[in-house]
Amino acid sequence: MSGKVWFVGAGPGDPDLITVKGRDLVERADAILYAGSLVSEAAMRWAKDGCQIQDSKGMTLQEITDWLIQQAHSGETVVRLQTGDPGLYGALVEMVQPLDRAGIEVAVIPGVSSAMASVAAGVETLTLPEVTQTVILTRVEGRTPMPEGESLSELAAHHTTICIFLSITLLKKVQSELVAAGWSEESPVMVVQKASWPGEEKIIRGPLSEIRDLCKAEKIASQAMIVVSPVLGAREWPELKKSKLYDPGFHHRFRKVKDL
Ligand code: SAH
Repeated sequence: MSGKVWFVGAGPGDPDLITVKGRDLVERADAILYAGSLVSEAAMRWAKDGCQIQDSKGMTLQEITDWLIQQAHSGETVVRLQTGDPGLYGALVEMVQPLDRAGIEVAVIPGVSSAMASVAAGVETLTLPEVTQTVILTRVEGRTPMPEGESLSELAAHHTTICIFLSITLLKKVQSELVAAGWSEESPVMVVQKASWPGEEKIIRGPLSEIRDLCKAEKIASQAMIVVSPVLGAREWPELKKSKLYDPGFHHRFRKVKDL
């Protein structure tokens, strides 16, 4: 009988943003493989004495899956700690397939994505009634090609909230694709670097035409989320369409309509 491999979302950086279930697994783990460049080592403070802890920073995918398989043969609980949520740009399926082939049981524990942490850092909302009710999580084409129909200029034509991962060194492309989709040069952009990392988070705001220079001046070239949205800065708007959920005339399962 081999052990089980748990793919656990470690959250965006602040070690306290792991889920309770994720932390319990870290405590129980006989072996932990963590993505060293992105997962705070502080997350390992809950590991028990004698737990095998390994940084995957310098490992290939093959070495990672070999390690997980080997640990699952000797331990009961093996944890692969992933940054943010394991289902977003996390090579999850590439790691699960070899484990499936080896007959090892796997499970995934979701995590707080850096998209959510970045928006929270800026006290922003992803959705606002009657402005946008849709969020696109994407990236622009770098070394990984984008599938047909998913270029930023095509996606941005919807004018929804867009969180752009893995693209901070491609801001020029982000700018030109948004403009091609009809976004104005003045559209507000927020870039968050190291969202939620204690003492390291940086928030840069500016119009689309200037954001690249602003990020350059602040030397932001990695671990950053680009957020564009028609609701950025809504906190400052003098008037909002209020969410119907809290409208006294809107009843739902937990509240009856009030007599006005
Ligand atoms: N699974 C992760 C994403 C991994 S891809 C998640 O759900 O967040 C790595 C990219 O995520 C980085 O290039 C950056 O765009 C973003 N990222 C990761 N951590 C971040 C953080 N703390 N703040 C801002 N962006 C972050």
